[in-house]
Amino acid sequence: MAQKKQTSHIDSSTFVKPPVVAVMGHVDHGKTTLLDYIRKSRVALGEFGSITQHIGAYQVPVGSKKITFIDTPGHEAFANLRSRGASVADIALLVIDAKESVKPQTVESIKIIQKAKIPMIVVLTKMDIVGANPDKVKKDLLQQNVIVEEHGGSIANVAVSAKTGEGIDDLLGAILLVAELKNITADPNAPLSAVVIEAKKDPGRGNVATIIVQQGTLRVRDEIRVEQETFPVRALVDEYRKGIDQALPGRPVEILGFTSLPTVGSLVTSKDSTSVQAPSEMSVKPVLDKNSDAILKLFLKADASGSLEAILHGLPKEVSVSQTGIGEITESDIAQAKTMDLVVIGFNVKVPSRVTKLAKDEAVRIRTYTLIYKLFEEIEEVVTLLAQGPQREIIGQAKILKTFETSDGEVAGCQVMEGRIAKGDKVIITRGNKEIAEGLRIKSLREQKEEVTKVKKGDMCGLLLTAPVDFKPGDMIQSYTLYEF
Ligand code: GDP
Repeated sequence: MAQKKQTSHIDSSTFVKPPVVAVMGHVDHGKTTLLDYIRKSRVALGEFGSITQHIGAYQVPVGSKKITFIDTPGHEAFANLRSRGASVADIALLVIDAKESVKPQTVESIKIIQKAKIPMIVVLTKMDIVGANPDKVKKDLLQQNVIVEEHGGSIANVAVSAKTGEGIDDLLGAILLVAELKNITADPNAPLSAVVIEAKKDPGRGNVATIIVQQGTLRVRDEIRVEQETFPVRALVDEYRKGIDQALPGRPVEILGFTSLPTVGSLVTSKDSTSVQAPSEMSVKPVLDKNSDAILKLFLKADASGSLEAILHGLPKEVSVSQTGIGEITESDIAQAKTMDLVVIGFNVKVPSRVTKLAKDEAVRIRTYTLIYKLFEEIEEVVTLLAQGPQREIIGQAKILKTFETSDGEVAGCQVMEGRIAKGDKVIITRGNKEIAEGLRIKSLREQKEEVTKVKKGDMCGLLLTAPVDFKPGDMIQSYTLYEF
């Protein structure tokens, strides 16, 4: 018998949205341990025991309120905030080891949090360790333009230890305070909008997605729309594997009933909703992107659709992704990359040695990564370099001492000042700071009267270029290769 759909109205005036919190920071600075401590100390033992496997997000009670933690510490957290957008996390915790202070990934996290435009709380952790120096960390943060309250700024900071529990209650209090001050609210009676933060095939349960409700209320048997699919919600399951009837804003919940796995970051709305727009941060960059201004074209292979999404969302706009795929890099990927002139990027995937060899033979470049922020970091650096035009890497410099005419043309008599000069090298010629010729190669290279292939620093040589140049003593000849990613 079909049950009547629930449409009970929720009193918005008394509803408090649990803030959704993401944890960021340098590797080994204590993100996982902090989340574990909070979960273990806040969740009743019996319930905790029923969390048998990884869950993407969970709620912890704090007094009469609740906080939702997105439980993907480490590098995945970077991907989270980038791909899942500011609209999923309301607050970011910037976790810093109080002894180690600010490290590269701390700086990267700050940038990501600022880009996401969400409030942050600085968490100085490992306070139980001898040598913990929170004052130094706060000073170091000034250089990153992160000014904590004691230094006259607006950023809250809390000192904690996930070993002794010191400061953890203060931290939870600070999260709730920031949520209140920043007026983090939501309307449980608004049209439904929720975001998929994790999707997996679960043996026995089928396709399962963890979502976080942002606005409105999701109820069992609601007809929902995710991407192209519409279907009635078969069951809502909380982090303790208990079935629940409804999920209010700020609540993470698993949905069962998908016929295909939804994309991470996709929006969940009610079936007949037309008013809810996908948050702009969520839009997936089209694959087969024909961005003609792209200065770097990639073939992207990743271990899972979630990581693929995260990477697609986080790449700079100067990059276009022409091909994507899941799984190890194959010979046919290399063939395709060669035809389309793509750089192959692998994330958490294997490259069999025969594929590496083929790539080398075909001069196809492969770069692999296991940390998403490293991938972003390197690609951003490369894009910045490439945007400045072709990058020359100088491999040798020779100074022209005298010039003399021969039947083959004018020869430059030089001394090698740096590196080495070889026959066939691409060269530019400079006079002072000015470049007077480019696009040339070394046609012939002689040491004494002997034709040689290479001369090194300190050696004297005579060289002939592929085209005549009006050079004179004092000019420099520079050999270079073009920088390639
Ligand atoms: P993550 O990479 O940021 O998730 O770091 P982890 O949580 O894995 O912590 C890295 C190491 O620091 C582990 O060996 C933890 O046991 C240790 N650790 C984390 N928090 C604390 C703390 O508050 N006190 C002490 N003494 N050790 C900690």
